[in-house]
Amino acid sequence: MNDCIFCKIVKGELPSRKVYEDDDILAFHDIYPRADTHIVFIPKSHISSADHIDEGNVGVVAKIFATIPGVMKELEITNGYRVVTNVGEDGGQTVGHLHFHAIGGNKLKADFC
Ligand code: AMP
Ligand code: ZN
Repeated sequence: MNDCIFCKIVKGELPSRKVYEDDDILAFHDIYPRADTHIVFIPKSHISSADHIDEGNVGVVAKIFATIPGVMKELEITNGYRVVTNVGEDGGQTVGHLHFHAIGGNKLKADFC
């Protein structure tokens, strides 16, 4: 996607503070952290949101979830964290490329869920 900022990060056209990368996945520090540690996990391929996960692309989602624990451990987040994906306008999604926020490093407020 040409005008997608996360696709631009994948292509190296925009900078990011990477914490993990493989052939399918990228993880980097959120530019506007909402917790002491705030990592964004994305598939390298453009999927618009969790509303666009299907049988054909769910493999990379599983891979992201299998990757998150090791990355958080590496970042010394050992007392729990939260994984969130916002979907669409009412869900608060501001970047239209599927991403999972992994936030921790401090006690998180209960918030909505
Ligand atoms: P969401 O609002 O759930 O769509 O999440 C998008 C996230 O991307 C927000 O937490 C932003 O702070 C973050 N973000 C936007 N641009 C960048 C960027 N260039 N590098 C890192 N994080 C970004
Ligand atoms: Zn994209």
